[in-house]
Amino acid sequence: MTGREALEKLLEGNRRYLEGGGPRSTGQTDRENLVDSQSPMAAILCCSDSRVPPEHVFDAGLGEIFIVRVAGHVVGTSVLGSLEYAVDHLNVSLILVLGHESCGAVKAALAGGEVHGSIKGLVERIKPSLIDIDTGPDISREIMEAAVTENIRYTQHQLQDISDSIRKKVEAGDLMIAGAVYSLRSGEVNTV
Ligand SMILES: [Zn+2]
Repeated sequence: MTGREALEKLLEGNRRYLEGGGPRSTGQTDRENLVDSQSPMAAILCCSDSRVPPEHVFDAGLGEIFIVRVAGHVVGTSVLGSLEYAVDHLNVSLILVLGHESCGAVKAALAGGEVHGSIKGLVERIKPSLIDIDTGPDISREIMEAAVTENIRYTQHQLQDISDSIRKKVEAGDLMIAGAVYSLRSGEVNTV
């Protein structure tokens, strides 16, 4: 399956989700078939937000998607290691970076207020993606939408910039890195 075909399959799953389908039911046979190996169609790097569960959003069953979740889908060593495993050992042809409407991590980075503990390090990883966003006194809905999109694109670039193995696969045409945004209100996923 090519990266584009995998992306189309995910978007088909999202259409089923929009039509009211729940997460696909799984039986003992599905579990048993997956005991010895896995062959997911795609890797998804997604925000941790409880309202954006990829298995639901893409109507995906066991073994179909390899998911890495971290607030604001920021890139760090553990995230890269997990994705390199999916690319190099599970041979996924697609990494989808999935952001979402009203992402709290992006909002915190935009607002620029005081954050404490390890949240600070997380927010700092988002800030470079927002350098071209002019916030003004209030963060409007349009500015938030632009910021979410910029953060998705930034993450897409970072995956290739930092990871040699991911970049080589992309350059060889064996891997696609796509970006998409999830609407909390409609449930729709749109590529960016
Ligand atoms: Zn979020």
